[in-house]
Amino acid sequence: MATILDGRKVSKEIEKEIKAEVLSCDKNGYRPPHLVAVLVGEDGASKTYVTAKMKACEEVGFKSSMIRYDDTVTEEEILAEVDRLNDDDGVDGYIVQLPLPKHISVEKIIDRIDTAKDVDGFTPANFGKIDQEHHSLLPATPMGIIELLKRYDIETKGKHCVVVGKSHIVGMPMSILLAGPGDATVTLCHIHTKNLEEHTQIADIIVVAVGKPGLITGDMVKDGAVIIDVGTTRVPDSSKKSGFALKGDVDFATVEPKASYITPVPGGVGPMTIASLIMNTMIAYKKRMNF
Ligand code: NAP
Repeated sequence: MATILDGRKVSKEIEKEIKAEVLSCDKNGYRPPHLVAVLVGEDGASKTYVTAKMKACEEVGFKSSMIRYDDTVTEEEILAEVDRLNDDDGVDGYIVQLPLPKHISVEKIIDRIDTAKDVDGFTPANFGKIDQEHHSLLPATPMGIIELLKRYDIETKGKHCVVVGKSHIVGMPMSILLAGPGDATVTLCHIHTKNLEEHTQIADIIVVAVGKPGLITGDMVKDGAVIIDVGTTRVPDSSKKSGFALKGDVDFATVEPKASYITPVPGGVGPMTIASLIMNTMIAYKKRMNF
């Protein structure tokens, strides 16, 4: 039976540590860190994620603000908002929640974000430094996964890690973090990978970030593998009040018996992503305040 990598528990520990730092700043007469989220449109999942991020800010004593636009907003208006946030000395970090409507170029928006306030770690300048040992403002999800592994004393050095999915926000930076500072041997798989199971079957650690429920099944993993499931797909479920359930990319029922450690969905990677955003905001704040 696998040990559950409890992202909820670990994220609470991290929040407690950050809260203590915020209290100490307050005692010394400094303002709290301030995180802003820009939310465009009415996408249910995006609203849920941003609300959870704002709630975590409140819990640690940060100031948080949400700026909302409807999905008819123009690219110029969002770029103007980004410029305002860049210039606002009272803002330590901000995120533009993705996805954005198709008429807005994500690249243009991300390129314009001040790298010092880029708490999602998506700007080219921050992304380009991912493999540096002590770089801060790492992309939140891969950063959260590394932190989770560390807190469970799971070594990556010398391990064979297979990352499935190569998105800019999860799979690609994850593979760089594991191969760079993590000193692992990394295979990065994606939609064009042939015979995916031949790669996953020899992995010590599998990180899957695809968005296809049940993609990784028990026959695709070796005994004792560490399984990190990033996938969060909403599937209809009439037994839930919300009308949907969150499903990971891993078929938990067949994989868990073979794994040594495994993240649940929900309650694994999701809370760690939020904890990383909080950690990044604290880092950006300290730099801004010259602490
Ligand atoms: P994405 O941008 O859609 O990327 C998915 C990746 O999976 C792509 O690289 C794609 O390959 C690859 N892929 C698609 N089908 C595949 C298959 N059958 N076999 C192997 N690779 C395949 O998604 P994302 O933003 O990385 O998110 C992935 C999942 O993680 C989603 O469910 C998302 O909701 C979730 N997520 C969760 C968190 C969290 O905090 N828990 C954070 C971010 C994302 P190509 O590039 O070649 O098309």
